[in-house]
Amino acid sequence: MPARLVALLLLAVVAGGALWSDRPPAPVPASAPATEFSAERALPIVADLARAPHPVGSPAAARVRDDVVGRLRALGLAPRTETSVVGGTAVTNLVATLPGSAPTGTVVLAAHTDSVPAGPGAADDTASVAAILETVRALRAGPPLRDDVEVLLTDGEEAGLLGARAWVRDGLPAARPTVVLNHEARGVAGPSLVFRTSPGNAGLLRAIAAVPHPRGDSSLDAVFRLLPHDTDLSAVLAAGRPGIDSAFIERPSEYHTAGDTPAALSAASVQSQGSTMLALARTLGDADLRPLDPAASGLPAQPDEVWFRLLGVLVTYPQAWALPIAVAAALVLVGAVVLARRRGLLRLRDVVTATATATGALLAAAGLGAALGAAAGPDAGPFSRGLLPYEVADVALAVVVVLAWALALRRRPGATTTAGAAALLAAIGVATAVVVPGASFLFALPALGLGLGLTVAVLRPRAALTALAVGTVPVAALLLPYAPRVFLVDGAAHGLAAAAFALAGLPLVAVAAGGRV
Ligand SMILES: [Zn+2]
Repeated sequence: MPARLVALLLLAVVAGGALWSDRPPAPVPASAPATEFSAERALPIVADLARAPHPVGSPAAARVRDDVVGRLRALGLAPRTETSVVGGTAVTNLVATLPGSAPTGTVVLAAHTDSVPAGPGAADDTASVAAILETVRALRAGPPLRDDVEVLLTDGEEAGLLGARAWVRDGLPAARPTVVLNHEARGVAGPSLVFRTSPGNAGLLRAIAAVPHPRGDSSLDAVFRLLPHDTDLSAVLAAGRPGIDSAFIERPSEYHTAGDTPAALSAASVQSQGSTMLALARTLGDADLRPLDPAASGLPAQPDEVWFRLLGVLVTYPQAWALPIAVAAALVLVGAVVLARRRGLLRLRDVVTATATATGALLAAAGLGAALGAAAGPDAGPFSRGLLPYEVADVALAVVVVLAWALALRRRPGATTTAGAAALLAAIGVATAVVVPGASFLFALPALGLGLGLTVAVLRPRAALTALAVGTVPVAALLLPYAPRVFLVDGAAHGLAAAAFALAGLPLVAVAAGGRV
């Protein structure tokens, strides 16, 4: 088997492994130890609560609340209902406290009890309400935590975060350190992603690191801000208080429809949501919460950190490093190109051509994907059920564009293709480091890997294929597994998805060509 095929297969294994490790865990059976979170114990609660739509103000919403009050009492808590008027609408939140042994503050487990009028809201947000009940049960089965744990089940989220706004106004103590863990769904399947952390997230990331296989990364925050969505956590963040937002977002075609039923809800998603919730509650519940909530404690603000998983390891570094890393990636690449030129392995003009045509290829993939989405109509959007043919078409578009680029450059020295793809990534890495630093790792680290790989390839031409393949590992581990996620984004999803696959595909050309330099 040619060495280039082996190298491409290994990169495919790296990308596949990254995708596989993001899958939600298998549901834990009801026979599991009492201290564990079991989706099988939580799912019957969802089936009971999500029988019918229960929007804010409806008799069905009151029935759901009464049912939950009974379940909280059965867990040994003393729930309180807090009714208030927000924006002319009466909302009733449910609050219950599990006292800590020596509290430094409060960890809040939050979800909303109301659904949209269109559907029963099994995933959004009954699954999270049930997960909170199962988490409280598991917490009570274990040794008591140091901090208070407060259950906050809000009303009127779908009508504009009404219950959360009332709680922030009336129920959030100004001087008591409080961390809010909010739980949502924007689909009925997939892993629970930690998609948003409050500014100054360094302390929160120590807790996220304690979650077994935490899913999500700091780029999702930026993506979320581009979408027309909001969660209860927004009310908390607007008050300058800390928190973490988690949600599962796959199969969004059922989101806010009559199809969001207990039958459609993925048990693995409930397990993922609950396992993450329980791990965060235990870690934060035993932590000193004062440094995490500077607004309440008066302690200095914590730094912002970039975070993601690379080859199974949680990587975090200060956000202030994002731009230096992106600039370093660009400088390493410039160094590699200068070195290659001195050795007569490429011409500068060719590198400029390769970079310009790679940019053109990326734009062509985006344009063709967007045109495909427009031609297919709204039924081809990410909320449609029959998405698969369009997903295949988006990937095929990206492959065609990347192949066309490779064919156009085939007569030029191989090092130019790597330099061209890496220059495009490095430029995007620097731009994102300035505008959305939490997302720049997706581009800057692949650019850095390619720059280092190219340097070694130029110095040791006999090992060029190995060097370029190893240098392409960040592309396979970060960028390629990220591309399918773009299918879940609304709006220009097809153009963005085709562009994401093309951007990940361009650097593979040098490896596919056998690493000739
Ligand atoms: Zn919701």
